[in-house]
Amino acid sequence: MNRLKGKIAVITGGSSGIGLATAQRFVNEGAYVFITGRRQAELDKAVALIGQNVTAVQGDVSSQEDLDRLYAVVQTEKGAIDILFANSGIVDSIGIDEISAEHYDKTFDVNVKGLLFTVQKALPLMRNGGSIILTASIASTKGIPGYSTYSATKAAVRSFARTWTLELKDRGIRVNTLSPGPVDTPIMESQASTRAEADQLKARFAQAIPLGRLGRPDELASAALFLASDESSFVAGIDLCVDGGMAQV
Ligand code: NAP
Repeated sequence: MNRLKGKIAVITGGSSGIGLATAQRFVNEGAYVFITGRRQAELDKAVALIGQNVTAVQGDVSSQEDLDRLYAVVQTEKGAIDILFANSGIVDSIGIDEISAEHYDKTFDVNVKGLLFTVQKALPLMRNGGSIILTASIASTKGIPGYSTYSATKAAVRSFARTWTLELKDRGIRVNTLSPGPVDTPIMESQASTRAEADQLKARFAQAIPLGRLGRPDELASAALFLASDESSFVAGIDLCVDGGMAQV
């Protein structure tokens, strides 16, 4: 299929999980993709997997210098952006009694400040009529013990989509939020100290999902493709929940 033929996409957090599955899908649909992440080894693996029409730029979204470097590479190599998937995110599951200022700063720096400047610094390169997709989470509308900071960051992301939809409407740039429910990616393991603990966490989430299982990264890639392509030409400012029904019933 060629639904993104000739399009240039930037995907932050494109080296793993949802971002990697989406990078593969976008390339299969005819796009050229720039992916980012902090770990060079993961980026190298992702580039090998995607195989063609991809450039990896190592960097941390919470660093202004790294974002400037990312967009300098995009400017030099392609000169424009049609699709921005601001998807990098982290989670540390910590109860209210244990939250430290360091945990708060780290989570907001990546998930909120990093995402905001990812978008702001992309705008000079964005073509009119482009699509911006922000990865939030159904955690933004649910109370989940241990997720106060993370959920608050994702509520901020959902809010950005509302404001930016209006701020960017004159350029024909659509902004939408993509909110995954629990999806089987390495972010699950990052919340557990052992394999058994990770399996327990996944089983607990699966029980809370009407469809009875975790999502797959490729199912989120399908939703991202919809928001990125002309298939969603009359869709703006929404929160597309891909969650097996978890936050819907
Ligand atoms: P993942 O497999 O852990 O992928 C996260 C990606 O973000 C990696 O490529 C990671 O690379 C990158 N990243 C993390 N911190 C970064 C930083 N400071 N700068 C640049 N890149 C950074 O997790 P995922 O599940 O695909 O998560 C993708 C997004 O979906 C996140 O925003 C997450 O909050 C959201 N989400 C996931 C789920 C779920 O259940 N999986 C549910 C709801 C929402 P490096 O570590 O190398 O930097």
